[in-house]
Parts: sequence; C-alpha cells; structure tokens
Amino acid sequence: MSTPDSIPALSTEDIAAITGNLDEVAERARAAARAGGRSGEEVRVLLATKTQPAEKIRVALEHGFTLIGENKVQEIVGKADALADLHPETHLIGPLQRNKVNHTLRHATCIQSVDNLALAEKIHNRLEVLETTVDCFVQVNTSREDSKFGVAPEDAEALVAEVRKLERIRLRGLMTIGLPGSSAEEIRPSYADLRELSERLITAGVLPAEATELSMGMSNDFELAIAEGASMVRVGSSVFGARDYS
Ligand SMILES: *Cc1c(COP(=O)(O)O)cnc(C)c1O
Repeated sequence: MSTPDSIPALSTEDIAAITGNLDEVAERARAAARAGGRSGEEVRVLLATKTQPAEKIRVALEHGFTLIGENKVQEIVGKADALADLHPETHLIGPLQRNKVNHTLRHATCIQSVDNLALAEKIHNRLEVLETTVDCFVQVNTSREDSKFGVAPEDAEALVAEVRKLERIRLRGLMTIGLPGSSAEEIRPSYADLRELSERLITAGVLPAEATELSMGMSNDFELAIAEGASMVRVGSSVFGARDYS
C-alpha cells in the first residue's frame, strides 16, 4: 500500500517502540486484572488512536490488537479505508453530534459516548432505517466538576431506563473519563463511583443484567481503573507516544 508523501514511513525503531509499548501495556493490564482476582483476559485494552496516523495504528493491529477508539467521526472516516483490510473493531469514544450519526454507524460498532436521550433516539431512528443494531455505553460524568460531556450521575438512572427501551441499541455498560489533569489517586474515586453506579443499576434492574461493562482508565491510571473493576481501558499516549495536534 502506498504512503502519502507527507507522511514518512515508520522506521524500524518507531515500529519496535510501538510493539514494545503494546506488550508492556498488555502485560500490566493482565497483572492488574489478576491482582484483583480476575483472569488476565477479562480486561480489554482499547487503543485510543486520536491524532495518530493510520501507519501507527496498522502496526498495533498487525501486532494482534483488535480494538481501537477514535474521538472524532472525521478521524474514523479518514482512516477507515487505510485500515479496512485489518478489520479493526472501532468504537467512538468522543462526543457525537447528532448530524454525524449516519457516518458513525457506517464505521463504528460501538458508541461509548451516549449521554443524552435525543442522541440515543437519533441513533435508534437511523438503526431502524438500516435495520441493524449497535452497541453503546452510557457515558457518565463522574468527575464532580462541570463538564460538558457525560450524563450527571444523578440523572444516569433515568437516561439508562429510557435508552434501554430503544431496542436496536445494545447497552453494554457505563463509560467515564476521569477529571483531566488529575493524578491517578485523585481520579480513583470517580472510577469507584462508576462501578457502584453500575452495580446499583443492575441490582435495580435498570441496566440489563448483561450490561456489566465498565469502560474507564487511561494511560496514567489504567491499573487503578482495573483495580476498581474496569472491563475495558482506553490507552493512547503510553502506546503511541505524545499526540501531535499541530
Ligand atoms: C485520548 C483519550 C484516551 C487515552 O488517553 P491517554 O492518556 O493518551 O491514554 C482515553 N479515553 C478518551 C475518551 C480519550 O479521549
């Protein structure tokens, strides 16, 4: 496959750095799962690939990783062709505007950022047209700060109850992003909150019994998130290096 002139091909060193990082993250995730009494295979590592070129993502997929997450629909669409032969499982992990739902459903198998009913209904209406289903997480704002994204914890139960009625949406569980810039220990209570919320909603029959997943934890804190019960961690910079937003 040809590489656009503007993007230099990866060096052997670049490739070795990525695969080394992948092995290390995977081993740390397995160890954290085992330390919490779970099997090492129970926690999935999603690669957060925002701003990363398809060449780097390809290295990870060829190394055996299968799950990627993008924050922007444009990035999902932009890299889809270059990675199509490797069949990644692609999740949207960033905010979704209602006018981008159609594009998203063309490429993503899971939307982790459902945080309001209007969006869920828009997704569901499109799924009716397509006669298909999609996996979703309800994103909860556990950061105890003003944040534009995620439903407030006190409103999560009502939202989950409504989303559950939309039969083409398969609820897999809850997702959260910790408070940006906080230390791992500062972030831990928000992960504990998400787990407690999930347990409460399952016990109350609001979340379906099979919707036990918890998507939480990033490069700086994924082991703590696993200790708090994460079933999926989203790791970017510790695999691919610092992001280049230029
Ligand atoms: C960027 C991002 C991540 C990964 O962050 P790193 O600190 O690079 O591991 C995880 N989740 C979401 C929603 C993100 O936007």
